[in-house]
Amino acid sequence: MNPDEIERYARHLILKDIGGPGQQKLKFAKVLIIGAGGLGAPAALYLAAAGVGTLGLMDDDVVSLSNLQRQVLFGSKDVGEEKTMAAARTLSRINPHIDIITHQRRFEEDCVDLTEKYDLVLDGTDNFASRFVINTVCHQTGTPLVSGAAIGFEGQVACFHSAGGKTPCYRCLVPTLPDEGDTCETVGVIGALTGVIGSMMALEAIKIITGSGDPLYGRLMIFDGLGAAWRVLNLPRDPACPVCGDQPLDKSP
Ligand SMILES: [Zn+2]
Repeated sequence: MNPDEIERYARHLILKDIGGPGQQKLKFAKVLIIGAGGLGAPAALYLAAAGVGTLGLMDDDVVSLSNLQRQVLFGSKDVGEEKTMAAARTLSRINPHIDIITHQRRFEEDCVDLTEKYDLVLDGTDNFASRFVINTVCHQTGTPLVSGAAIGFEGQVACFHSAGGKTPCYRCLVPTLPDEGDTCETVGVIGALTGVIGSMMALEAIKIITGSGDPLYGRLMIFDGLGAAWRVLNLPRDPACPVCGDQPLDKSP
């Protein structure tokens, strides 16, 4: 680390759970953030500031005015621009020591090779179909997955590392594709809530990368913003899970 980095990360370097070795792990980590939206935006800001050496950003959308209430990576001047490009510009300004790779596309089944280039995936997408595909590919590639969701005043976070039966996977929690039902577009979401959940995702990612603490593997953390209450539910592995269960892998997402 050069003198700028030593001063920049001083509050990490004195933490006994991070320190110099943890900061080096962050520097060499490659993290893919899928969805540069309400969750991906705060997660990307904190992971960039924390010194995650390679950040991949995937989104196929452009910035719209209705994004700005919660997607704090973007400003008014970015409206109409590709999200990944606008996000990369913001993140480079925050931390010039990191590499940012943009993937202006959706995550699909063909993203296996792309996923293998990363050590960790953050899923900040807003629909079950995408979460199913991301979970399947992360299981196939053995990539740890930090998953978040937020709607209205309620959100949740969980971590998965299901290859080899180490932990449950997302499909153990949601076995079959639900109706998309309510979305943030139809019922709304409070911007500060996406900040809470996106920041939790960044925190879990930093714990996984540095090997500190107890990541939310096999547990689901639920936050009730109106009641100001957190709950943590144990999440058992489902032996009949279509992705990580004891039967051969069903490749359909
Ligand atoms: Zn499973």
